[in-house]
Amino acid sequence: MSLYYYSRGFFRWVRAKVLRSEVRIGGHCLLCGRCCHDLRIMDNGKWITSRKQHEQLVQNSPEYGRFNIIGRDGCGFLTYSCSCVSDEGVCTDYENRPLICSDYPSPTLYYRGVDPPAHCGYYYEALTFRAALRQLLGREQSFGKVLRQERKRMTKEERQA
Ligand code: SF4
Ligand code: SF4
Repeated sequence: MSLYYYSRGFFRWVRAKVLRSEVRIGGHCLLCGRCCHDLRIMDNGKWITSRKQHEQLVQNSPEYGRFNIIGRDGCGFLTYSCSCVSDEGVCTDYENRPLICSDYPSPTLYYRGVDPPAHCGYYYEALTFRAALRQLLGREQSFGKVLRQERKRMTKEERQA
């Protein structure tokens, strides 16, 4: 995996652990078919980078035979287009689509540093350090406010006693 994706994914994973907040997936599919025309495939946690790996994958899981190699990206991963996507961007074999399709976009991809393609209807929602700090400061402010009100109330009661 390229250093860029590896570092990005590692940062996301560490942040999620530190903040104890897992990524959530928002949005919905717009049926644009972009992710079916230009995809990368992972097998056992490793991106497919060679024809040999691809052949091995298809031998073990024949449903991957629908993916045609169309090239290689800048990170060295093989790029694929699916033979099951219609001209309208709709899956023609929806019931039998492989796990990478039914799971898309998965938290695993997020922690690998990958995002859905531009204009995809899905997005990842993750707590950032900045948002967590803002939440913490907000809680401290309201805690301070409650404390001040409580002090005022106790002083008033002491005066009345
Ligand atoms: S790119 Fe996103 S919106 Fe388009 S088909 Fe894939 S999952 Fe759906
Ligand atoms: S099997 Fe269906 S959902 Fe999966 S890439 Fe092909 S067309 Fe898209």
